[in-house]
Amino acid sequence: MDSPQLEEAWDAFCSFIKAHRPLAEYSNWIAPIQVLKSTESSLVLSVPNIFVQDYLIENYQEEFFSFLPSELQGKCQLFFIVESSIEKSKEPEELDPGLKSPLLPSLNRHYTFENFIEGPSNQFVKSAAIGVAMRPGKTYNPLVIHGGVGLGKTHLLHSIAHFISARHPKLQVQCITTEAFVNDLVQSLKNRSVDHLKRHYRSLDVLLVDDIQFLQNKKNFEEEFSSMFEALIHQGKQIVITSDKPPQQLGFSDRLTARMEWGLVASVGVPDLETRVAILQHKADKKGLTLKQSIAFFIAEHVVQNVRQLEGAVNRLSAYCKLMGTEATEEVVEKTLAEILHQAPKKRITVESIIKSVAATFDIGPQELKSSSRTKHIAFPRQVAMYLAKELISSDSLSRLASFFGGKTHSTLLHSWQKIKKQMEQDQEMREQIERVRGSLIDLP
Ligand code: ADP
Ligand code: MG
Repeated sequence: MDSPQLEEAWDAFCSFIKAHRPLAEYSNWIAPIQVLKSTESSLVLSVPNIFVQDYLIENYQEEFFSFLPSELQGKCQLFFIVESSIEKSKEPEELDPGLKSPLLPSLNRHYTFENFIEGPSNQFVKSAAIGVAMRPGKTYNPLVIHGGVGLGKTHLLHSIAHFISARHPKLQVQCITTEAFVNDLVQSLKNRSVDHLKRHYRSLDVLLVDDIQFLQNKKNFEEEFSSMFEALIHQGKQIVITSDKPPQQLGFSDRLTARMEWGLVASVGVPDLETRVAILQHKADKKGLTLKQSIAFFIAEHVVQNVRQLEGAVNRLSAYCKLMGTEATEEVVEKTLAEILHQAPKKRITVESIIKSVAATFDIGPQELKSSSRTKHIAFPRQVAMYLAKELISSDSLSRLASFFGGKTHSTLLHSWQKIKKQMEQDQEMREQIERVRGSLIDLP
């Protein structure tokens, strides 16, 4: 049941802010918030985005609570619903209406080859995809693209569909998720229209199947898929499949596994630092956000494993900058991306692992880094290792970190950290070298 008490407190709070704070403060942060529901002890607020929510909690929650009647002090809870998340999940403008039909999943119009940034981790698979798109059924058939989450498999699959639809408009192209394929099949079994469905699939010129791992442990569907697959391949029709693992690891029948390996199996890997920076710059550009190179590097150093997260970082940053009318400065990045940037790296990093990597990079022995030698070719790598230890390990005190380097003191470690940090700002080559060591420590194995 709606209870007016909290709503009244909210109104009183709003009037107070409006009267006592700069008007811009009120109109940017408080006015857009609407009360959706109020109960005896909770208030559900709709906010236009997550920033308004965070801002309210951080800056005004206590103040709002002071407007509550005394019997409710300490009892009221705030809940938020982000309006934009509801709208965004529909993303109608992302969808290409010309390519929509019950059987066709909508293609994301941004997923094109032009928008796919290449680097050593994906160059090969991108050229294979372009090859297939230029001459469907004539180069690699099937083409199987596998790799981890958020590394661009769906992007490449849609790029092939866009390219073929534009270049070869007469060809029947269908891009489908495996889940939708299974659903269609279930539906047609219910309607007794399986033959119709089979005829439809067999009449295609190009079939693009996303996330084939969805067929795992679904033997009947796997068989149905296998026979459709063979029928198409035998007619020289192009098939492209994406998967989160290589074919042998999917646990499919030997027959389907062998078929999948007939053509070309190519993987998308985790992009290296330079590629991540290029992707960030590309995404920022599309959003009209200016990203200084040093900031792009900073983000790319922290967001390592997943391009979707990089994209999320840009979206978040761009929303914040637009909302606040500000530039993407270091402070803004720290503030908006805090939770993304401070995620613990997947691998546990130890001082020993840092010493090992640094020693290997500079071609010296790990013991030398722990010695008290002051010769430059040892002292400098030692400072680099100390810098990385402070940067990457927050769980130990500086004294403890320093003790790994042959019993140095915490002030030596701090001094090394400052020195290297400064030099990195001035010397690009050195920065890249150190970033490579850092990358080798935090990248996935
Ligand atoms: P997957 O299907 O492998 O899980 P997606 O294709 O959905 O990953 O990619 C996740 C997001 O990352 C998409 O928005 C995609 O545009 C973007 N992305 C991935 N790789 C690249 C790349 N090399 N260049 C530009 N954007 C990329
Ligand atoms: Mg995908």
